[in-house]
Amino acid sequence: MRRKLVIGNWKMNGSRAGNSVLLSGIVAGLAANDAPRTECAVCVPAPYLAQCQAELQGTPVAWGGQDVSVHASGAYTGEQSGAMLADFGSHYVLVGHSERRAYHKESNELVAQKAVAALASGLTPVVCVGETLEQREAGQTVAVVTAQLDAALNVLSAADLEKIVVAYEPVWAIGTGKTATPAIAQEVHAILRARLAEKNPVAAAAMPILYGGSMKPDNAKELMAQPDIDGGLIGGAALKASDFLGIIYAV
Ligand code: PEP
Repeated sequence: MRRKLVIGNWKMNGSRAGNSVLLSGIVAGLAANDAPRTECAVCVPAPYLAQCQAELQGTPVAWGGQDVSVHASGAYTGEQSGAMLADFGSHYVLVGHSERRAYHKESNELVAQKAVAALASGLTPVVCVGETLEQREAGQTVAVVTAQLDAALNVLSAADLEKIVVAYEPVWAIGTGKTATPAIAQEVHAILRARLAEKNPVAAAAMPILYGGSMKPDNAKELMAQPDIDGGLIGGAALKASDFLGIIYAV
């Protein structure tokens, strides 16, 4: 059976005090419920990585960043390198989240280079792909997500595929309360897995492909019942311990 994984994306939310309540709530909930075997992590704003390291070390919850520079160091004001994320014990980093693609004009090629940079620092990149509503309505979903994935496949080796995670996040479902139906999500997940398999069938079969987009405790089970959905990338519901835990249990 493939490993299951739930990652919370805090986006630009949090405060030291609020984070402590959230993190301790998640850790306590996992302990009280005989920690399910689903792996979980939180991807937090960079200023809170040290707090995660201090408060999550030794717990079943991993942590990571939401973006990484393609550069190793130097005059890149505002950016953070993979080594810096790793310096604070990060395990994961999101690359190509739709908000980075939309607001920072990140291209498929740049996102692919970010995946390479993450791997070079020993991090697991979570490569996010997904179509906008306009693209879906124009029948371009497969072409869009395939092009996004292919950019990464063009620069990653077959062996690298054993060390990445892919997340399908239809942009129209992120933060909107509109979840893709399990059938819609499954169709895209299966296409992504088949594409990955062309490069490394063993890694493709083992890789968790996460769904993201208004996933909540009450819709997680039906999404997870699909054969190619192996977990979730969670935005809003990751900000409340009971909701995040509810999704982890459903997964
Ligand atoms: C996300 O930001 O990756 C996300 C899936 O957000 P939400 O769960 O709020 O739709």
